[in-house]
Amino acid sequence: MTHSWLDDFPARIKQLDHAHLRRRRTVVAPDSGARLMVDGRSMLAFCSNDYLGLSTHPDLVRAACAGAQAYGVGAGGSPLVSGHSAANEALEHELARFVGLPRALYFYAGYATNIGIIPALVGAGDAIFSDALNHACLIDGARLSRAQVHRYAHADLAALNHELAQSSAPRKLVISDAVFSMDGACADIAGLLALCERHDALLLLDDAHGFGVKGPQGRGSLAEAGVHGAKASRRVLYMATLSKAAGAAGAFVAGDDALVEWLLQKTRSYIFATAAPPLLASALSASLQRIAQDDWRRTHLHQFIARLRRGLTAGLHGSEWKLSESQTAIQPLLIGRNDEALAAMEGLRARGIWVPAIRPPTVPEGTARLRIALSAAHTEADIDQLIDALTTLAQASR
Ligand SMILES: *Cc1c(COP(=O)(O)O)cnc(C)c1O
Repeated sequence: MTHSWLDDFPARIKQLDHAHLRRRRTVVAPDSGARLMVDGRSMLAFCSNDYLGLSTHPDLVRAACAGAQAYGVGAGGSPLVSGHSAANEALEHELARFVGLPRALYFYAGYATNIGIIPALVGAGDAIFSDALNHACLIDGARLSRAQVHRYAHADLAALNHELAQSSAPRKLVISDAVFSMDGACADIAGLLALCERHDALLLLDDAHGFGVKGPQGRGSLAEAGVHGAKASRRVLYMATLSKAAGAAGAFVAGDDALVEWLLQKTRSYIFATAAPPLLASALSASLQRIAQDDWRRTHLHQFIARLRRGLTAGLHGSEWKLSESQTAIQPLLIGRNDEALAAMEGLRARGIWVPAIRPPTVPEGTARLRIALSAAHTEADIDQLIDALTTLAQASR
């Protein structure tokens, strides 16, 4: 044999380097507040989805330790065999009550939830309607389902209405991020639900970035839209991750009793995987209490969002760099070219600030950006330091 494809990987990695698309991990450890230790150096970080600063909260740490004492570290099996601990069962009831929906199913990860539940809901001959900016795991779940996928322009409800009206599929599923993960924009939930009602479709809403942050007491985007209770929520399946504002790991899906029972029966990523460790459920119970009670965390977060937007709007005036129209903790700064976004990230890094550059294919070609993520763990001085550094870098880039 002369040439094997196995010899091509070094050259293929070089191609990634040339296109400024090589991804690298950074080894980190928590420091105080919103700071991270990176290579032995304390950096001010704006990269975490820990929006409420709960991931290191003593209540969660204590609960995780108590959970480990009571249950050990591993779940030992699939939830349908021996892995469904009392802690996981209790958490499901708490989650359902928290979001005001009839029933919840708790998963070990958000990615696994979406790639599993979509194929459980629809299959060949059915139709999926997917927002163009949806998260990768919704896209992958749609592909796995073998249903026909209709991608509609981001947030374009008229286009969605048209696609739904054209479809004669027996089962129609509309899938959307509630808060778009790379833009920070929010979906029009009432509008989506009205279209689903009109066309007998089901809405799957991914609230990874809204749960804990949006709605009264952080009960999420659906609660904020006023949708709760068995009757109001019949057309919607609510999914959220517990790895972001909740500060731990895992995810859940909540909705109509029969629908959730069906998912329990048919979701392969649930059935054929080990249940989440019970110690996480213990930590998450503690997290739900902090989320519900600590309104001050959301208040601080919103003050920081307003402060950053005010400061950057002034500081970037006349620059090519554009702050997105987001009112959430995700504040993307659109730069455009991959190499320029990487240079901006490096410029911040040299000033002790860490903001990740996000490039295609995570975002559309030509829209490389800095994804600034704010947290209740930041301080006003942290926000001002970021504004000053970006203002200086933007001026230098002209
Ligand atoms: C992070 C994220 C997920 C995946 O959740 P994990 O718990 O990290 O697996 C799913 N959907 C969206 C929109 C996300 O941002």
